[in-house]
Amino acid sequence: MYVDAHCHIEDKGFNKNRDEVIKRAKSENVIIITSGVTLGGINRALELKNKYNIYLTLGFHPDKVKADNKIIEKAYNIIKSNYKKILAVGEIGMDIKRENYDRQEEIFRKFLNLAKEIDKPVVLHARGFEEKIFNMLDVPAMFHCYSGSVELAKKIVKENYYISISTLLLFSKLHEEIVKNVDIDFLLTETDSPCLSPIKGEKNEPKNVKLVVKKIAEIKEIDEGEVKKIIYKNSCKFFKEKLTL
Ligand SMILES: [Zn+2]
Repeated sequence: MYVDAHCHIEDKGFNKNRDEVIKRAKSENVIIITSGVTLGGINRALELKNKYNIYLTLGFHPDKVKADNKIIEKAYNIIKSNYKKILAVGEIGMDIKRENYDRQEEIFRKFLNLAKEIDKPVVLHARGFEEKIFNMLDVPAMFHCYSGSVELAKKIVKENYYISISTLLLFSKLHEEIVKNVDIDFLLTETDSPCLSPIKGEKNEPKNVKLVVKKIAEIKEIDEGEVKKIIYKNSCKFFKEKLTL
């Protein structure tokens, strides 16, 4: 089985064809782990978990930190009370391309502490703050769509954190270098659907995670079936769950 360790199937962009997209993923043996990261997204993701057999992580996106404290508090409380339904807290983190770093950090810490409290790993959004966030960590973590330096990637996996490789791998030399230099036992795969489409003019969707596995196999010169198995094993280990379709 393939694992899309991070996507947003609850995104409104999928309202018209969500059934089809999920069916397509399942028919291609792709396990979906969706990430609700706004108050609305969290609620939609929880509904979808009941409707389809998919997995959840819930967090609060650094893009959204302008939200009122009341909204953030609500999101926090929903995650806390549904902790049994989630694999991880996330995505959470900081983003250098967004404003208000102090506020981003404050909210990131709040959710990082929640993860500790409910004993869950975290899914990190760390664009431009990879090093800072790496130095703050004290719970198991995966760097979603990791785009930091190769040097830092090596340090990250040395500390037993995971690096998730997205569909950006299909166009990016940096991501290729990361894959080349990082032990495959610490790699996960994702699409971040509907973002980061590898196909021009199309929305990204979880089944495209197969393209990431194929590319990792090429770069690492390992049989594709073997890569698939290793990534599945890594995913189960990181999320502490025997993942099923
Ligand atoms: Zn995302």
